[in-house]
Amino acid sequence: CRHLVLVLGDQLNAASSAFDDFDREHDLVWMAEVAEEATHVWTHKARIVMFLASMRHFRDQLLKKHFQVDYRELEDSSNQGTLARELAAAVKRVRPKRLILVEPGEWRVRNDLVQAARKMNIELELRPDNHFLSTPEEFAQHAQGRKQLRLEYFYRELRRKHDILMDGNTPEGGKWNYDAENRASFGKAGPKKLPKTKHFRPDATTTAVMELVEREFPDHPGDLEHFDWPVTPKQARQALDDFVEHRLADFGQYQDAMWSDEPYLYHSRLSASLNLKLISPREVIDEAVIAYRSGKAPLNSVEGFVRQILGWREYVRGIYWLFMPEYLDRNELNASQPMPAFYWSGETDMHCLSQTISQTLDFGYAHHIQRLMVTGLFALLLGVTPKQVHEWYLAVYVDAVEWVELPNSLGMSQFADGGVMASKPYVATGKYIQRMSNYCQSCQFNPAEATGETACPFTTLYWEFLSRHKKRLQGNNRMSMQLKNLERKPKAELNAIRKRAQALRNTFGADRK
Ligand code: FAD
Ligand code: SF4
Repeated sequence: CRHLVLVLGDQLNAASSAFDDFDREHDLVWMAEVAEEATHVWTHKARIVMFLASMRHFRDQLLKKHFQVDYRELEDSSNQGTLARELAAAVKRVRPKRLILVEPGEWRVRNDLVQAARKMNIELELRPDNHFLSTPEEFAQHAQGRKQLRLEYFYRELRRKHDILMDGNTPEGGKWNYDAENRASFGKAGPKKLPKTKHFRPDATTTAVMELVEREFPDHPGDLEHFDWPVTPKQARQALDDFVEHRLADFGQYQDAMWSDEPYLYHSRLSASLNLKLISPREVIDEAVIAYRSGKAPLNSVEGFVRQILGWREYVRGIYWLFMPEYLDRNELNASQPMPAFYWSGETDMHCLSQTISQTLDFGYAHHIQRLMVTGLFALLLGVTPKQVHEWYLAVYVDAVEWVELPNSLGMSQFADGGVMASKPYVATGKYIQRMSNYCQSCQFNPAEATGETACPFTTLYWEFLSRHKKRLQGNNRMSMQLKNLERKPKAELNAIRKRAQALRNTFGADRK
């Protein structure tokens, strides 16, 4: 053939630049399901299904449009198991003049494919990913000469550039940021009746993939019983409409709140659809803005939502490509504790963690504050090796793709990048979780206590964390209040805290590895 157009599992974008000059007679699309992508981290079954089911639906759409597709299924007897080896086999088979590939979302995959092409002495044309609203080059330019990177400035540049929520030169409503209105909890009464999320029942294609995953990866974490994620562009669009209609209006106010047995609350559930490129961020943003203009949703919600997608999502991608591959090995706080075994089972007496982890294993989902201020915070306070934390987050969420997961886990949640993503470590006692959820009401521990048998482990470990890293944090203005409070603690109490922290560390079994 003339061009072999490579389409990876997170590049399921019908409007992709890979197809710009596609010639149905002479070009061929190449897609491969390979075990390596499900096993290089111990991937959740739902994440594997999400990718493979979406890939198969995408293939079927291409075939309907009379594209020729060279598609390797996982259980094909001659499947080589890795992308590089599968590509080599395909090149041998079809002898293309050139390979075309949109910039992959993971450094490792990009490197493997570039090396494979080099080895075979075949030209590989890398094309920009037109799914995003900014480019890694644009971000690198933005970062140049800045001592400290901040989301806020990059986000404002993108708001202006794409004319999103702008009123001429000024931000809609007069302010760039409505975060102060977006930190409510549900209080004692709990949430009012929550809207049901749209459920996408697995069709025959998805069901076949689910059976395959149970067969091929039976010991992998997670459950498929509840799998109801959108796996086609049409379903992703329905999920967007459902969110805008029923949840967007309350999204802002409650975006940080948590509640037992309520995984989704007012969140959009669009991350996996976005990351696999089933839907474009511009389409999602535009719908949210239309809802604001038509009076369906208030500005604090719509701006808060746009900030996540136009802001954070583009920003973390910029960070990833600017700092990879060395970013992966960063460990600013020299954390070396193994990941507790309960991260893979949810079996712990700490109710916030058992809720968040069980929900993660059941659905492949947790919202941002659960990831940052429950599982992430606990690993940070305990001092877990950042690479293990990163591998856990990459494994257990249906939306996990390294460019977005790594800066969030290793950077924002573990402070392992020394302040690139966050200007200070996100640390808090159990009282933060108490304020934002009802978890503590069903827990045997007390978030107000740092010592004693009923002391909340978060609270104990918080003070121990501050005292352990005091020297490192002293130069950080944003930590001065917290460190001042530490100074006020009597020596005897601090000693008791250290002792209890040590006892806690001894009780957690190591990760399965
Ligand atoms: P909503 O709350 O409805 O938000 C809307 C959209 O905004 C999301 O779909 C997502 O595309 C985007 N978004 C929100 N927060 C972020 C953020 N911090 N960074 C980038 N985009 C954001 N998101 C992933 O897509 N994949 C990951 O692997 C991932 N790993 C994370 C790991 C940690 C430790 C943390 C703290 C966050 C992580 N996030 C990740 C970001 C965020 O938690 C998820 O995007 C969000 O929870 C997905 O649910 P939702 O679609 O209902 O999001
Ligand atoms: Fe979590 Fe501590 Fe609250 Fe228990 S008391 S739910 S461990 S924050």
